Amino acid sequence: MKDTIVLYPSIGRGHINSMVELGKLILTRNPSFSITILIPTPSNSTTIDTTTFGCDSSITFHNIPIPPPPSGTTLSPQSLIFRFTRDGNHNLHHVLQSISKTSKLKAVVLDFLNYTATEVTTTLDIPTFFYYTSGAASLCVLLYSKTITQSKTEENCNYLEVPGFPRISKEEVPSIPEELENIFRDISATMSDCDGLIINTFNAAEGRAMKALQGSYFPKESNPAPIFCIGPVISVPGGEKDENECLSWLDSQPSQSVVLLSFGSLGRFSKTQLTEIAIGLEKSEQRFLWVVRSESDEDSLEDLLPEGFLDRTKEKGMVVRNWAPQVKILSHDSVGGFVTHCGWNSVLEAVVEGVPMVTWPLYAEQHLNKIVLVLEMKVALALKESENGIVSATELGDRVKELMDSEKGKEIRERVFKMKVSGVEARSEGGSSYVDLNRLIQLWKEKDHLSLLSPNT
Ligand code: UDP
Repeated sequence: MKDTIVLYPSIGRGHINSMVELGKLILTRNPSFSITILIPTPSNSTTIDTTTFGCDSSITFHNIPIPPPPSGTTLSPQSLIFRFTRDGNHNLHHVLQSISKTSKLKAVVLDFLNYTATEVTTTLDIPTFFYYTSGAASLCVLLYSKTITQSKTEENCNYLEVPGFPRISKEEVPSIPEELENIFRDISATMSDCDGLIINTFNAAEGRAMKALQGSYFPKESNPAPIFCIGPVISVPGGEKDENECLSWLDSQPSQSVVLLSFGSLGRFSKTQLTEIAIGLEKSEQRFLWVVRSESDEDSLEDLLPEGFLDRTKEKGMVVRNWAPQVKILSHDSVGGFVTHCGWNSVLEAVVEGVPMVTWPLYAEQHLNKIVLVLEMKVALALKESENGIVSATELGDRVKELMDSEKGKEIRERVFKMKVSGVEARSEGGSSYVDLNRLIQLWKEKDHLSLLSPNT
């Protein structure tokens, strides 16, 4: 029977891609494992074409059907994402049991959004790990969420201090609904109690947060969950030439001259906001590659953007509708800046290529990532929203120009380039991420020695 590691990502392309890359990485270090990736498949969604991941036959995929939530569910859509995999637990149980009949199930690795799956792994007594696909600093905030809730009510304290996270004023703390606070508390408890936390980060990017996680978050009396920081892990695009015309357009642009604007798999803007971006880009006089996603997929670019914009900017800019091959774009020599929604995959993809950023967080933990990028890693400039929630043309144009054409922009570029080099070192033989991944694989190979391999023993 083959030693098997089961990976259970959450829905969302960023989460699935990152977990698939983790699977590939495990296999490069230990080809004798087999990897099974379970894809949660809600009843109303189309199944994912897993051939696009470019995996070899050591990685197999299974869909876990997720039935629709029972009628009368009172949770908001924001909270439902954390709980809905529980409805698929029956199917998960069945699949794990059937895998264990033909292979030696060494570990299940969960996305934190799927934390309710521990109800199954605990019942089946399978060692359970979490792969946190965002950074260590936002994980510090998540694990500290109970204390944050309490300190928000303390009137005299204007700042929030979370070990491993930059000190921020109360106004900067993202507000979350009460039901979500309860869920975060449950997640915090579940993660603290697991067999290990795998994090897609590395020392030069988030050293302070990594240290805090190793010391501050777990009850003294318990065996702390070991931490494995194995990043930067990013999607590796296939070798074949991408058809997308934006890549050939980039070929014709000067080195490091183009700023990319791309906002993850879910970032969409109103026509008002798109108009401000267009005016700002024109004013900045910088070259740009802009992935435009609007509230309605029906609208054409001509409908969405100011009259004549595409024509006036065709020498300097390229606009792509909905989706572009971001990893390939960021690795292109012509790209010299990135306006990002601060999704962690996007952040690491930029860091790995030494591309400095302008931050425009939109949802989830991206506001926390922005704070880390600007204050801690110091590899980005922050965009300010107006009071009506819109980023003005002037603000966007000024920040893009500052990033691409100022002393401060140059300093940020130099810093992110150093971080890129440190990322390569961390992943290379003997580097911290290399060592942590080896430690993890060793732990899985000798499952009986779980407690012996905890870093505090
Ligand atoms: N992505 C892409 N093309 C696009 C938008 C996004 O290839 O037009 C990829 C991007 O490279 C990243 C992922 O989708 O790997 C988005 O993950 P991230 O964590 O940045 O954001 P999320 O979509 O999870 O909010």
